[in-house]
Amino acid sequence: MTHRLAVVVPTPAHSTIRGPLSYLSELPLAPGKLVRVPLGRREVLGVVWDEGSGPDFDGPMDTRLIAGALEGVAPLSQGWRQLVAFSAQYYQRGLGEIAVAALPPQLRDLNTAQLARRLKRPASPPQVPPCATDRELTPEQQAALAAFESGEGPFLLFGATGSGKTEVYLRAVQALLARDPEAQALVMVPEINLTPQLQERFVERFGAAHVTAMNSGMTHPQRLKSWLAAHTGAARIVLGTRMAVFASLPRLKLIVVDEEHDPSYKQQEGARYSARDLAVYRGKLEGARVLLGSATPSLESWQAGNKGRYRRLVMASRVGQGRLPAVRLVDMNHQPKQAVFAAPLLEAIRQRVARGEQSLVFLNRRGYAPVLSCTACDWKSECPNCSAFRVFHKADRTLRCHHCGYTERVPRACPSCGNVDIAPLGRGTERLEEHLGELLADATQADGRPVRIARMDADSTRFKGALEQQLARMHAGDVDVLVGTQMVTKGHDFRRITLVAAINADAALFSSDFRAPERLFGLLMQAAGRAGRDAAQADASEMWVQTWHPQHPLFAALRRHDYPAFAAQQLKERGQAGMPPFGSQALVRAEARTQEAAQAFLNAASSAGQGIEGADRVALYSAVPMSIQRIANVERAQMLVESPSRAALQRFLAGWQPVLHATREKGLIRWAVDVDPLAI
Ligand code: ADP
Ligand code: ZN
Ligand code: ZN
Repeated sequence: MTHRLAVVVPTPAHSTIRGPLSYLSELPLAPGKLVRVPLGRREVLGVVWDEGSGPDFDGPMDTRLIAGALEGVAPLSQGWRQLVAFSAQYYQRGLGEIAVAALPPQLRDLNTAQLARRLKRPASPPQVPPCATDRELTPEQQAALAAFESGEGPFLLFGATGSGKTEVYLRAVQALLARDPEAQALVMVPEINLTPQLQERFVERFGAAHVTAMNSGMTHPQRLKSWLAAHTGAARIVLGTRMAVFASLPRLKLIVVDEEHDPSYKQQEGARYSARDLAVYRGKLEGARVLLGSATPSLESWQAGNKGRYRRLVMASRVGQGRLPAVRLVDMNHQPKQAVFAAPLLEAIRQRVARGEQSLVFLNRRGYAPVLSCTACDWKSECPNCSAFRVFHKADRTLRCHHCGYTERVPRACPSCGNVDIAPLGRGTERLEEHLGELLADATQADGRPVRIARMDADSTRFKGALEQQLARMHAGDVDVLVGTQMVTKGHDFRRITLVAAINADAALFSSDFRAPERLFGLLMQAAGRAGRDAAQADASEMWVQTWHPQHPLFAALRRHDYPAFAAQQLKERGQAGMPPFGSQALVRAEARTQEAAQAFLNAASSAGQGIEGADRVALYSAVPMSIQRIANVERAQMLVESPSRAALQRFLAGWQPVLHATREKGLIRWAVDVDPLAI
């Protein structure tokens, strides 16, 4: 007898098949079981899905036999399947795309014997050793933990930078593991860069056998190993980046989302899910406690706290005698026109160097200069494939497009007029480092040795191990001034920094993106958070901001380290404009051979969508070019869809999906829906 199964398979992102396909099997197989199935001429990994989830009969009609089941691997839980189903529906993607992307690629390729070897458990399953921690909690940490243990959640831990949030996470996990001998915890961080540091602290506390990492930087064998550890319950703690929200954790009881405001939690391609939002959903679904933490929460989470949907836990002060740095605004209108560093800022850095303290200077632009230009004619280092300039990287004398990757050697002379005098315009971290070196050429350390300047950004940390090495130098005190992009402002517990400087923060003040002030405020607060973490030096710690607009209200709140005031002001504006979190948004993006075609597609889909259920509560704006209109010779346009009601928007998007699929436009390459977009 054969059984009919609904199986979720990795359908291509643009297929109209969104649900499971129908297959036959000699044996009955439970939902969640992993199988290998034929798809076209390939054999792919699939997941047996729940009956009645409506196999998608738009797909191939000749029902084929599955190739086999993955013996020895327990089925994926119902909670996991629901999480995947919800994500697919909410973010308007195929089930298969999300389900299979969440599984390690090697699962498909290993035969039964190979899998069995990897599934062999250690002789005696490791137990957690009550961990010895002699560290006493601060009163604020104690209060936060007590509230966390006694309530339901979700919880928003609003804790100043340096207030000891990590210790709260550690204790929450520790209490859980002690209470429940099988429970698992998921701890998420926004960036791979931050995982080694956190992993070290968890391993130190709980032992390496219990902790496993999950991030996109891992090799296929590593991913398989950590996935199996989580799936079998051998790993009690999974530490990971956004992808870890889809980890199979059969005994999940706690989810921690550190730096919950961080935009990196939003996937920026394919299924554009928010791992933070899914964590909250998953917690509710599986009865796991959720703890979101930040010094500058997202306005969405803050508002949920205002409404009582999240319980807010507050840790306002730094551990020990640490204090938040004094904020100094430098009015650049009163500085010499060409000055990159105001004189008093330079002097302040000099003093730090002489005292053996560290300074951090950040600028959100890497490379040497954003543009190279000819002094005789109009030539600029435009990218031939994108509506953007190629960035001048002096170290390897290249012009590199940061969008399409197109790279060339810097020309000896202007390609347009032959003039040999071509010069950099503007500056990135590489040039800033060089410039600072010149300005501080005579600065010396206490013992008279010359100042040591280093740089940390995506370029300097490109090679394996480079980041760890640079962080180690910083922690060891072998660097006096660190220049970097926002990479250096996040999360690091640098102990000797007493000065942080933001060189050019103004661009974000007048951005067309309504989230720009929120991001800037968060970034500056995080940056300030790197200074004065050590009590002995806290009094001298300062955050310098160079700006042309010192009167801007954002800076008034920053000076007082007053996130609640900033949030209240922003939420008021958003409320008046009906913007998130008071309304819901989605963005449809289209890519085409021409800008006209991209916009025509969006406008046609918009007209065709007028009659759909929910359309009366949804506003569809006109199609517009994206801020970077052309990348790799593809024209890009977008259309904003907005509604005061999330449910209405969801209903509309579901009904609109087939309309988008059916809309044809010559020259259209692809389109995608981004629900709850972070950048407009
Ligand atoms: P946050 O994540 O809130 O910015 P961290 O967790 O990095 O802060 O903690 C800041 C510093 O304080 C770290 O060096 C940490 O080891 C230390 N710390 C945390 N809790 C305590 C405590 N109860 N007693 C002493 N030091 C602590
Ligand atoms: Zn020229
Ligand atoms: Zn390009």
